[in-house]
Amino acid sequence: MDHDVIVVGAGPVGARLATVLAERGVDVVMFEEHASIGRPFQCAGLINPWSMAQVGLEHTVLQEIDGATIHGPHHASVSVGVRGQPRTSAVCRNRFDEGVVHQALKAGAHLHLSTTVTGILSMEDGGWRVHHQRGASSGTTTCRLLIGADGAHSRVRHWLRSGRPKEMMIGNQIEVTGFETEDRWLEMFTGESIAPGFFAWAIPTGFGTHRIGLWSSPDRLDEASPEELLNGLMHTSRHASRFANCQVVARYCGPIPGGMVRRPVKERAMLFGDAAGLAKPTTGGGIGPGFKQVGMVADTLAQAIHSDLLSESSLKKIAKPWDDLRRHQTRARALRNLFLTESDDETLERHVAVFSQPDVTEMINRLGDIEHPVPLGIEMLRKVPSFRPLALKAGWAMLTA
Ligand SMILES: Cc1cc2nc3c(=O)[nH]c(=O)nc-3n(C[C@H](O)[C@H](O)[C@H](O)COP(=O)(O)OP(=O)(O)OC[C@H]3O[C@@H](n4cnc5c(N)ncnc54)[C@H](O)[C@@H]3O)c2cc1C
Repeated sequence: MDHDVIVVGAGPVGARLATVLAERGVDVVMFEEHASIGRPFQCAGLINPWSMAQVGLEHTVLQEIDGATIHGPHHASVSVGVRGQPRTSAVCRNRFDEGVVHQALKAGAHLHLSTTVTGILSMEDGGWRVHHQRGASSGTTTCRLLIGADGAHSRVRHWLRSGRPKEMMIGNQIEVTGFETEDRWLEMFTGESIAPGFFAWAIPTGFGTHRIGLWSSPDRLDEASPEELLNGLMHTSRHASRFANCQVVARYCGPIPGGMVRRPVKERAMLFGDAAGLAKPTTGGGIGPGFKQVGMVADTLAQAIHSDLLSESSLKKIAKPWDDLRRHQTRARALRNLFLTESDDETLERHVAVFSQPDVTEMINRLGDIEHPVPLGIEMLRKVPSFRPLALKAGWAMLTA
């Protein structure tokens, strides 16, 4: 074989996997269809402390974020977080992605840019023949293990017939000057006419710019496009006056896959990150779950590659810890649906008003972990009288999730 492992896609998750495998003596090559890393940029760029600690790329942070103000559809709002205690960081995604890829190269992985993987062929004696195209020239490379880390619309996932992510949301974002918020504090806007079933955000990125975006699911958009909704937030919503001086300096749009695919592991093949459907149902963040997925299998996978024990059943055993990720994702989605996605504007307004009661805000600040929303959700259902009617529904949703 030409290499032990081929990773299709040099996004943050593919590059993180390449790093941990190369550090363990595995011969890895990454194929990336774009000419440079981290472009096109399609992300709000929030990286939580745990993910940042995995890669130590603090120099890519533009602004630490201590908390958030959540606006209900009508008048209610609540601020959660504690000043001076960072919950997450807004990074420069280009520099962050470049940093992760650089670590992979330093660990000994190889990278081919401007090289699109166009097909895969399973070989009789084990392993894969991978077809790729670079400009006018095409070629093939062989490997013992194939990794699909090729993003939300993964072609590798399609070729392997691994199933689809449970949900596919759409994110749309612009970068603006002229928006005013408190430093180190982000804002979230809810309401059927703003981001049906989900929310919009304004994230300070330092240097006087903000990322303003929203996410929703196609089935909730009716006729409206995400761009129209974002326009509505900025020009006709009750928040419009706050956007009056905004100048748009950049625009991005991209898919957000939520819900791990049914078969992330096949004979001599695995899916990671967005390709596996790993984004968080509560925030759309995909880098933290992708890094977790990598960390869970790094040692055992490297050993299996060295021993060439890469059958589907061996890889399934290695990937067993991912069951926890899947369970967590499913429960988080059930709670999100209950508190946000399936609430009409009146209910949502009531929820935000309840969140703003001092004892509830204190509970959110104590238990609210962007990585683990489930314990907070369960505690609120148990302890906050206004949410008790939801508890039975939540219990059922989680049991059947
Ligand atoms: C609007 C928006 C806001 C977001 N905000 C956040 C956020 O704040 N925090 C967060 O954690 N996540 C956020 N996300 C999600 C985040 O961007 C993804 O979860 C993350 O990029 C997934 O990383 P990945 O490495 O799995 O895939 P990707 O970053 O998508 O990388 C896949 C790579 O594969 C390459 N590729 C694809 N097909 C091929 C092929 N056939 N051959 C070769 N190369 C190929 C692509 O060019 C790409 O470089 C957001 C997403 C959107 C759309």
